[in-house]
Amino acid sequence: MKTYEHISLKAYNTFGIDASARRMVVLEPGDEPASLPREAPWLVLGGGSNMVFTRDYDGTVVRLDTVREVSVRADGAEVLVTAWGGMVMDELVEWTLEQGCYGLENLTAIPGTVGASVVQNVGAYGVEAKDVVEGVEVYDLQEGRRCLFSNADCRFAYRDSMFKHHPGRFLVLRVCYRLRREFVANLSYKALEGLPHATAAELRQAIADLRWGKLPRPEEHGSAGSFFKNPVVEEPVYQHLRTMHPDMPEAHRSEEGYKLSAGWLIDRAGWKGRTMGAAGVWPRNALVLYNASACTGSEVLALARAIQQDVDDKFNVRLEPEAIII
Ligand SMILES: Cc1cc2nc3c(=O)[nH]c(=O)nc-3n(C[C@H](O)[C@H](O)[C@H](O)COP(=O)(O)OP(=O)(O)OC[C@H]3O[C@@H](n4cnc5c(N)ncnc54)[C@H](O)[C@@H]3O)c2cc1C
Repeated sequence: MKTYEHISLKAYNTFGIDASARRMVVLEPGDEPASLPREAPWLVLGGGSNMVFTRDYDGTVVRLDTVREVSVRADGAEVLVTAWGGMVMDELVEWTLEQGCYGLENLTAIPGTVGASVVQNVGAYGVEAKDVVEGVEVYDLQEGRRCLFSNADCRFAYRDSMFKHHPGRFLVLRVCYRLRREFVANLSYKALEGLPHATAAELRQAIADLRWGKLPRPEEHGSAGSFFKNPVVEEPVYQHLRTMHPDMPEAHRSEEGYKLSAGWLIDRAGWKGRTMGAAGVWPRNALVLYNASACTGSEVLALARAIQQDVDDKFNVRLEPEAIII
């Protein structure tokens, strides 16, 4: 276990915001989490790819080392792949494909770590973590003990899980995914429909190309990916909006309601490509706020609030951040 005092977090968040932490502790797979400092508050930090620091953190940042620790166990036609929570998620996706284990390929190139993938219930191109997570090994920082959670215990929802409602309490140490030996491409996302004969490697490449066509690469422009969640509204609200704005994209219907395109709302409100202070709205994707030139977290927050207010005024729809504001 490594400990650092008064450390800059600039290299530890993809927005590239210059905040600092009073202390950072980094755990490796063999370290005993029981020896973590006991005094709260704690902030568990993965790759910092969905975080916006608006202030310095006066507590202990807990990180898992990004080493690769992964194992495979056969279970009939399926395989159980267990990975260390600090491992980079995209490395795990690549590794599983190399081993002939399928199910994670649509999550290609999502920044961040394995541990955060369950906390956030990450999703892309028709697949969410909840579809493939079998169980999670967690250290409860509050109670000081290890626990195992099943998929159902995680209470997954759209970009949400039980863990998100207990910030600083659970440290996800390992995630077990249930994958398949046989590759069956998931082409449910419209842009992938034209790839019925793609191999897993070709599908992975196609998804990476699609992603980087509309998202800023973290090494070039800081961002947290989609800044807002797609708002879910009830049918009368959706029908009213469709009548008022016939060109609005069709909502995705789920048990939770009608999921609108937040990107379309922000774009239609006139924000795409605009900057406010040193923060901006990505010119190729209005859902992404980015670091236009050494911005602060407060500038990102001010821009986000201005967008929220404007979308609320114009469409009577409230946007909620997907990114975690510290
Ligand atoms: C360019 C770009 C594209 C993106 N595209 C997508 C996308 O397509 N789909 C999508 O869902 N997301 C996307 N994201 C968001 C981001 O990649 C995910 O939310 C990712 O899971 C965050 O991982 P992280 O390790 O960086 O977590 P962090 O940002 O460090 O943390 C996120 C949350 O998880 C918690 N956390 C992190 N690690 C652990 C752990 N081991 N134990 C307990 N809690 C933990 C943190 O406390 C925090 O609450 C994108 C981000 C960027 C920058």
